[in-house]
Amino acid sequence: MASSGVRHGLTGQVQNMMFKFNSDYEVVQDFKGKTLIKGETDGSSFPNGGLRGTHCAGGYLALDTSSPILCRGDTIFIPSAFVSYYGAALDEKTPLLRSNAALDTHGARLFTLLGGDASSGVQANIGLEQEMFLIPRDQYYRRPDLQLTGRTIMGKNAPRGQEMCDHYMAPLSSATSALAAMQEMQDECWRMGMPLKTRHREVAPNQFEFAPLFGSNTTQIDQNVFIMQIIEEVAAKHGLAALLQEKPFNDVNGSGKHNNWSIATSSGINFLAPDEVIEATGNEEAFAVIMAAIVAAIDEHGDLMRAAIANPGNDFRLGACEAPPAIMSTYLGDDMTSYLEAFMNGSSAKYEPGTKTLDLGTKEVMPFQVPAEDRNRTSPFPYGGARFEFRSVGSAQNVSLVNTVLNTIAAEKFAAFADRIEAGENPADIAREALKKHWKVIFNGDNYCEENQNMLTESGVWRIDSGVEAITVLSSEKNISLFEKMNVFTGTELHARQDVLHDHYTGTVEMEALCMIDMINQHVIPSVKEAEVGPLDELTASITTLKAGVAGIHAAESSVDKAQLARVLRLETMIDIRAICDAAEEVVPAENWTLATYKELLFLDQQTTTEPEFFGE
Ligand code: ADP
Ligand code: MG
Repeated sequence: MASSGVRHGLTGQVQNMMFKFNSDYEVVQDFKGKTLIKGETDGSSFPNGGLRGTHCAGGYLALDTSSPILCRGDTIFIPSAFVSYYGAALDEKTPLLRSNAALDTHGARLFTLLGGDASSGVQANIGLEQEMFLIPRDQYYRRPDLQLTGRTIMGKNAPRGQEMCDHYMAPLSSATSALAAMQEMQDECWRMGMPLKTRHREVAPNQFEFAPLFGSNTTQIDQNVFIMQIIEEVAAKHGLAALLQEKPFNDVNGSGKHNNWSIATSSGINFLAPDEVIEATGNEEAFAVIMAAIVAAIDEHGDLMRAAIANPGNDFRLGACEAPPAIMSTYLGDDMTSYLEAFMNGSSAKYEPGTKTLDLGTKEVMPFQVPAEDRNRTSPFPYGGARFEFRSVGSAQNVSLVNTVLNTIAAEKFAAFADRIEAGENPADIAREALKKHWKVIFNGDNYCEENQNMLTESGVWRIDSGVEAITVLSSEKNISLFEKMNVFTGTELHARQDVLHDHYTGTVEMEALCMIDMINQHVIPSVKEAEVGPLDELTASITTLKAGVAGIHAAESSVDKAQLARVLRLETMIDIRAICDAAEEVVPAENWTLATYKELLFLDQQTTTEPEFFGE
């Protein structure tokens, strides 16, 4: 919990040898089945949000059978859940597993009532696209902020950014070490049984992406935390530093981790694929009923979706013209929207997704068929024909909470629908009523446009601009009741988790502020003095301001108060001070500037310091 953005590798691990000495001092194998099933450890220093005292430090690990055991190097890694002596969740995994149980129970109930066979069980499947930056490692060592906080807290823009989108989908050339590094990352992942299917360049300079084959959520999340660790380790071997933080650089795109999400029976019938649902249930209305439940869930619990992506790095990413805003609407596409609208108004026509033919007007390229639906990358939660894609998720996150929320809100609506059907109501009537009530959350237009954002806000779609405020919804009455009803979190666990997330935010900002103080004192001011140009007095004054800001946070009482002050320090005070530092960088001669510049950090292709590399010859 709460190590994202700063820690190398997001898993918690304890590694044990598997042999001992017998009475003849010989080495014998020592690995019993019970060791695999359960472990006990000192869990005293994990963040727990007050769930237990320091004198109650026992932590229990129990095998999670839903996710495969992984082998790497000399170690067998055993996916586990981690709880306190009293069974309270101290990890990301336990609530996720509980939400899987809720989705299984209520998804199966609804699907059976609609005429389907859910005897194999119901599960959520996800595929996590992972964006990141790869930068020259020697320059990384010249940036204390990148080393300690994962993002640049100062730095004048380079003359070139992403104005020509020239990095996007550009060839992965072997002229820099990035390609060889990515090949080796894939190779390491393959050896652990983790196929990274897609690799490409993203839009910001030095930004890249991997996408895996999708699978069950615990498998994918366990693998993703390893993938992030492997990315960081292998990058270093190639003279690179991998940055997984959401917004390492100002004014070029940040990184996301698109969480593609679908629900299916374990035998493979996808609830979000209209044809499959209709065929499996023999019920023309079944798909519309399922979609109505999901639309209702998004509309009612968009606050929780927003909370789940409130990673500190997402502060700088959401709402700008690169990632969807903090307004939780969903894009369904024109065809699907008109189908559901007609259904809502009483039609019982079948959903027939259109296709169209693209004819390029040349004889060399044959005309080809495309879906009638375009994509909408401005929507936080677009439907893409068989899956939803949660696009606002942050690149550094362990996405367990994200998926815990998606599963729980869907499960609750499935349960509510199933209860009413069991009580004798007609499924289509329930779905029509839900669609009418929650229709406002469907929005197919441009979410980046301010007018549309105002319209959505006025219509009552959940909008929480501040990540710190978003985290506080975890303990609202509505949400405690939702999670308790679905047996995912207790109220106590929710309060604890909220404190952990706020403390994580505050800790992040405190490190950033202290880093800024050091960089100004040890780099910017000496450079300005040496060159005898630049805003020396303002720089000196800003140290006092930053120290006062940090002291103010320390003096505040509760986790939420501290986080609120930290947010102001970060998003107001530090942004103003950054402008002073960047003004200094603008006038100080290159020979006197001691920090790595955006030009040195962002243009691998133009660096001569990294040797071309080839992998696997
Ligand atoms: P895009 O062009 O949408 O960015 P990518 O190939 O980069 O596509 O990533 C799509 C991700 O979605 C992949 O990880 C893929 O495995 C996953 N995915 C595809 N279908 C499903 C599904 N039904 N449920 C969950 N994830 C899916
Ligand atoms: Mg992609």
